Amino acid sequence: MENIVTLNAGSSSIKFAVFDVKDSEVERDPAIRGQLLGLDGEPVLSVFEMKNGKLREAVRANGVRDLDSAWPFVLGWIEDALSDSTVLAVGHRVVHGGAEYSSPVLFNDEVMSALQELITLAPGHQPYNLAGVSAASEKWPQAKQIACFDTAFHRTQPRVEQIFALPRQFADEGVIRYGFHGLSYEYIAQTAPQNMEEIPCGKIIVAHLGAGASMCAIKGGKSIATTMGFTALDGLPMATRCGSLDPGVVLYLIENKNMSPGEVADCLYAKSGLLGVSNVSGDMRKLEKSSDPCATKAIDLFVHRSAREIGSLAAAMGGVDALIFTAGIGENSPVIRERILEASRWLGFEINREANNAGNRKISKDRILPSAWVIPTNEELMIALHTHRLVAKRR
Ligand code: ADP
Repeated sequence: MENIVTLNAGSSSIKFAVFDVKDSEVERDPAIRGQLLGLDGEPVLSVFEMKNGKLREAVRANGVRDLDSAWPFVLGWIEDALSDSTVLAVGHRVVHGGAEYSSPVLFNDEVMSALQELITLAPGHQPYNLAGVSAASEKWPQAKQIACFDTAFHRTQPRVEQIFALPRQFADEGVIRYGFHGLSYEYIAQTAPQNMEEIPCGKIIVAHLGAGASMCAIKGGKSIATTMGFTALDGLPMATRCGSLDPGVVLYLIENKNMSPGEVADCLYAKSGLLGVSNVSGDMRKLEKSSDPCATKAIDLFVHRSAREIGSLAAAMGGVDALIFTAGIGENSPVIRERILEASRWLGFEINREANNAGNRKISKDRILPSAWVIPTNEELMIALHTHRLVAKRR
């Protein structure tokens, strides 16, 4: 048996999945899916039952203190679980591919150094993604290592969406809007037509609402516009990231508050968003349960900005036929979905409350356009499919 391993590493977590390859095709359901969380406290490796998503096994990661010690632990566990199967390739989620990489690529020294140069554009993700490549190459030297980029899906956007109104030399240097969550959007773009007989090739807005949150306008399966830009800070307020911000605020923080670039980055990436506004938590579940008025304010802001971005993305596409919610909040919070749809009624959305509360796939009223849907995202499958395609081509 041959397998494809997918890795998605963050600053305090490593998520992985193992896909069997049978008859030269990737199985759509992974054989194993797991995650090591809690690197900032007591790390635990959780492995999930694939059929029902329930926890199969939770292993205390004894001796794991940081990412350096986490990699051998996680990869060793995967190897034990695979027993005599062979790892054909490892697909890595890499957050930033810059202007150069508009599709998945096989890692080599040149690719690695080009991607290392992008670390300043995604300090919270890129270094951890690349550390996974080094660890997996050491563990499985025979396996091909493939980078799948969160930015790649957006490279089809019209130039006018990609440029800032800055002096031209900056765009020439690569200071443009890249957009992120591309693997999630690509999965939804490919899955949506099968689910939505009403809009086979329509104008779709996908709301990827997780700890990191963004939205994307997709027309005919291609990205037209998205809320994140040069970095993953732009657009919607997120768990701890600020979202859209007047650049004058950054100047104010530096000039009037004497904050260093590092302090400003820490403020915008780690202390803002839902956490910053509520001073309670960046976690939507906790905010929904909280009676603190500041938690309510943070939710109000999230809903307000989401509705504004839906209007903006509809304008970029010249209309909208469907809105699809996905990721942690989008898939699991009927309250947030309802509030965003209510704030978007002017576009014609009409929520079916029963369907929304029951967690159905279609959550808008029948025969009303635009329609609204919930489709769980599957970035791992997208990575596995890209990885297999690239490896098969080179065989
Ligand atoms: P990421 O992949 O960006 O780390 P996720 O897609 O896992 O994030 O989403 C995490 C977010 O989803 C958190 O804010 C969490 O509170 C929220 N979430 C998960 N389940 C629910 C739920 N049942 N109700 C409300 N929010 C939820």
